[in-house]
Amino acid sequence: MKAILIRQFGGPEVLKLEDVPTPKPAGGQVLVKIHAAGVNPADTYARTGNYAVLPPLPYTPGADGAGVIDSVGDGVKKVKPGDRVYVAKSLSGTYAEYALTLESQVYRLPENISFAQGAGVFIPYGTAYHALHHQAKARGGETVLVHGASGGVGIASVQIARAMGLTVFGTAGTAKGLELVKREGAHQTFDHSNAAYKDEIMKATGGRGADIVLEMLANVNLGADLKLLAQYGRVIVIGSRGDVTITPRDLMSRRAAVHAFTLWALTDAEAIDVHAGINAGLENGTLRPVVGAEIPLKDAAQAHIDVMKASGAFGKIVLIP
Ligand code: NAP
Repeated sequence: MKAILIRQFGGPEVLKLEDVPTPKPAGGQVLVKIHAAGVNPADTYARTGNYAVLPPLPYTPGADGAGVIDSVGDGVKKVKPGDRVYVAKSLSGTYAEYALTLESQVYRLPENISFAQGAGVFIPYGTAYHALHHQAKARGGETVLVHGASGGVGIASVQIARAMGLTVFGTAGTAKGLELVKREGAHQTFDHSNAAYKDEIMKATGGRGADIVLEMLANVNLGADLKLLAQYGRVIVIGSRGDVTITPRDLMSRRAAVHAFTLWALTDAEAIDVHAGINAGLENGTLRPVVGAEIPLKDAAQAHIDVMKASGAFGKIVLIP
């Protein structure tokens, strides 16, 4: 099969399309014919070799994907050949024509969700669901600021929060992104490239502040986020690319808290909740992954450049084998 192989850590140019043996599922494993693979910022961090979780070289990247079950190993009961699935991590990497996974790493993909959309389910929606339900313990009637709402995790957060009954504020850095965030359910949108946006957010809350901030770029925004919080407010750090200075008194005066997590550490119980919640939302139409760009698998290097652009996010970038 064709697969992207990384033989050494480095820039986007180390992503090479190669011919590799098609894996065979052993007991408890399944082989998925990948129709689309999701590109996530974490794939680029690992590619550089500077990330907490690094696979041994050589490896095929990708934790997100969607396709059809090709074959199953002994003892597999959850799925059968022909079933449509989305993948949540894999044994062999999803940037390929086929991906080998554990039975527990595939989930049914409803008919109303395309394969390209399915490639943007696990990491974006899993992260957003965990942030809102488990970390923020969000309640209907609260106000959430999705800070960086135009990308994969942001759009998922907007849709989930809206379905939970929160008042949803979302930020983006381009007119196109702002329009998308509004379309996908934000009650109000703010341009994070415009210095006045923090004042506008405070004004929109009547001076009270937001109950929850989901933060995609904490190294830039965390200090300011604390000043946007209501009493007992919570910032959930989802993304960060460096250091930041905060004023602890902003937390003290609000009895506020900062929570942070990585999706890789999801417990089994949390994973059951996450996938059940996502499945219900995909089925009933409240969760609709947005695909911004479909790129041929051979151009994975370009996809890595695009996903790390400073601004201009528009839903998910997916690779098509
Ligand atoms: P993405 O699709 O590339 O989206 C990036 C988002 O950040 C866009 O909405 C972008 O808005 C926004 N942004 C850019 N500059 C910003 C600023 N100054 N302030 C606020 N937002 C800004 O990435 P993603 O997949 O949604 O992931 C978002 C972040 O979360 C990444 O850093 C990723 O590594 C991290 N992440 C963490 C976990 C975890 O387990 N903790 C899981 C998934 C993702 P514009 O382009 O419109 O400016």
